[in-house]
Amino acid sequence: MVENKEHRFGECEICGSDPKVINIIPKHQENGSLITLACENCALDAGMYCVNHARPHMGFEDGTSACKFCIDDDVEERGSKLGSQFYHEVEKSSKKDEILEFVGIWDEFVTAITLESSHKVMGRALITGAMRRKITPEEMIKGTLENGPAFLLPGSSGF
Ligand SMILES: [Zn+2]
Ligand SMILES: [Zn+2]
Repeated sequence: MVENKEHRFGECEICGSDPKVINIIPKHQENGSLITLACENCALDAGMYCVNHARPHMGFEDGTSACKFCIDDDVEERGSKLGSQFYHEVEKSSKKDEILEFVGIWDEFVTAITLESSHKVMGRALITGAMRRKITPEEMIKGTLENGPAFLLPGSSGF
């Protein structure tokens, strides 16, 4: 938990209000804390609260965030389709070898853990990356074909 003696649990660390429900959002603070306790309004203002699921986002090490439940919903709906579209378009890319080598190692590792199909695993990566970047999964595919496989992992290589 937060190592701040003056902090009273339940108080919004952004506006100081004392809401009924406090959200733990993945907003990094200057004091080194990787989380912030926030009221719903401040969590919304920070772009780290999902209204549809009434939950705060999960965070990533680079400071981006996304709603885990929105990712899961979207993966169920079109994850496999996006993954198959990705592999189809990679075939036409000048970075094909580089991308397939990177994705192959990762795919083997992830599918062994999640037991999901390669296409679905790729769809999840595209959807998660898109939500973190606030772009569309189609733009994730385009960005990966143009910039190389590191584009799939926001924050990893300065993209
Ligand atoms: Zn607040
Ligand atoms: Zn959501």
